[in-house]
Amino acid sequence: MLIVTLRMLDPISQLGELAGTVQVNADAIGRVRDLLAVPPLPEPITPAEPAGTGIELRGVRFGYDGGPAVLDGIDATIPAGSFTAVVGPSGAGKSTLLKLLGRFFDVTEGTIRIGDRDVRELGSTGVSRLTAQVFQDVYLFEGTIADNLRMAAPDATDADLDRVARIARLDEVVERLPQGWHTRVGEAGSTLSGGEKQRVSIARALLKDAPIVLLDEATAALDPANEAAIADAIAELARDRTVIVVAHRLSTVVAADRILVLDQGRITEHGNHESLLAAGGTYARFWHERLRARGWQLTSEGTS
Ligand code: ADP
Repeated sequence: MLIVTLRMLDPISQLGELAGTVQVNADAIGRVRDLLAVPPLPEPITPAEPAGTGIELRGVRFGYDGGPAVLDGIDATIPAGSFTAVVGPSGAGKSTLLKLLGRFFDVTEGTIRIGDRDVRELGSTGVSRLTAQVFQDVYLFEGTIADNLRMAAPDATDADLDRVARIARLDEVVERLPQGWHTRVGEAGSTLSGGEKQRVSIARALLKDAPIVLLDEATAALDPANEAAIADAIAELARDRTVIVVAHRLSTVVAADRILVLDQGRITEHGNHESLLAAGGTYARFWHERLRARGWQLTSEGTS
């Protein structure tokens, strides 16, 4: 009896462990099912070819899942090669606007045209070819840093990786890591800090070399090294591309050719930094508040 009991203990404890694994996998399968249940966007039979990379939004209205309008009549022209910053209070619809430009969703009303073609005529593949995205919550895949970059351009050589890493200042990060480019980032990039992940994402966008870059700046406070690195990388990205940035840092806002002020799903003001500041509207208020907030800093005397 003793021997039989002892022999049975092991399989029973194994069964206990297995139950946990089954539960985790069942959850994962549930999430995959939810994803597969999302209806795909309609795709054109023969995708149109864009003529250029200028963007035009006319009467754009959009609500998630047919809900209330998050964007409520947006009209804007974004010339090819320009650097546009989108600013506004939290919940104004800034990130939603970027997602519509990348055709993550289709507008409820109105049109978004890239290179004189409606994004619905270009199709998801066409829009994806034209745009590179750097989002706030950068998702990195389980694999090495090099794998994560090569997702954008599978045929990129090591020299290509080094080139974009230098521009995005990812080279400093790669050098510091024990296995360099071959360091595994851990699922969802858990081994890198927020700023470092955004640098990987910017390097990926540079490697893709798409003519339009959609960038949602990290709101989280970055350390000065990351802050400077990302500012330089954005300036480099903007050099010969159409860049639309949801900007949170003052330096990015000032660097933009054009600023769109979004409030409650509408563009309330547009222009460059000087003209908006002189107009004395929402933007001027936002600017002075941010400047004041920046004035509040902990000094070493204060903390000691
Ligand atoms: P911002 O970037 O200006 O902070 P967002 O575009 O993220 O604003 O959000 C605008 C509004 O849309 C908010 O009210 C937000 O709650 C809502 N929203 C954002 N994403 C989703 C989503 N995936 N599903 C439903 N509502 C959403």
